[in-house]
Amino acid sequence: MEKLIITIAPTGSVPTKKNNPNVPIRPDEIIKTGILCEKAGASIIHVHARNPVDETASTEFHLFEEIHQGLKQETNLIIQISTGGRAGMEYEQRCERLSLKPEMASLTTGSVNFPSSVYVNSPDLICALAKDMETHGIKPEIEVFDTSMIQNALDLADQDLIDQPLHFDFVMGLKGAIPATIENLVHLKNSIPHGSTWTVAGIGAFQLPMGIHAIAMGGHVRVGLEDCIYFSKGKLASNEQLVNRIVQLSNIMGREIATPDEAREILGLK
Ligand code: ZN
Repeated sequence: MEKLIITIAPTGSVPTKKNNPNVPIRPDEIIKTGILCEKAGASIIHVHARNPVDETASTEFHLFEEIHQGLKQETNLIIQISTGGRAGMEYEQRCERLSLKPEMASLTTGSVNFPSSVYVNSPDLICALAKDMETHGIKPEIEVFDTSMIQNALDLADQDLIDQPLHFDFVMGLKGAIPATIENLVHLKNSIPHGSTWTVAGIGAFQLPMGIHAIAMGGHVRVGLEDCIYFSKGKLASNEQLVNRIVQLSNIMGREIATPDEAREILGLK
């Protein structure tokens, strides 16, 4: 079986230090987390920026720039910048960071009802972000919150807005998104084109079981405090711990871990 690519999503836009003191907020904290997670076995880092003062999600270019530069200098990780936005963030605020030309960026191909807000990704916005990624030579990770988003991505590929082979991230178990069941995971896996790669991000308590299913099924795994702040019931996690657990499980299950360069090969990054 293909070696396992582990993505670390250390920060996201929601959890704060009050929820878990291990959430890296400042650029230097995110860079340090990247170094530790690479050592632990991660090959991709999924990056959000936060306002260092109040810890809210930030669209500030200079923060993304500082994180991107630091990670490039200090690690060999594949840097994947999130183009996600919260309520009120427009295209202009979500595309600027792509000019940093990270190797990857996330591209959500549809809208979702989050627990208390709507995550809006209009067809025009999706096309515009896809075009920007194409222009800058960035490989999108297609964020799939529901099955229809796969078809939306295939339509973009038909219009030559994204290149095959496609890479998907199945976000499962978030209220409003596809439920985290093994049946749904099999359905998503069977719905993507042959030759595509996929990873799974189980939210909350689903992070561990979905990761185990993905290891067994030949997919890849995303872990991190963005998706779950706990290691086990009532016990807070650190990002390195979450990576380390997947490495151990994968070793037990007989699947080797990809280095960042091996991950580049698997994903067809130039
Ligand atoms: Zn994210």
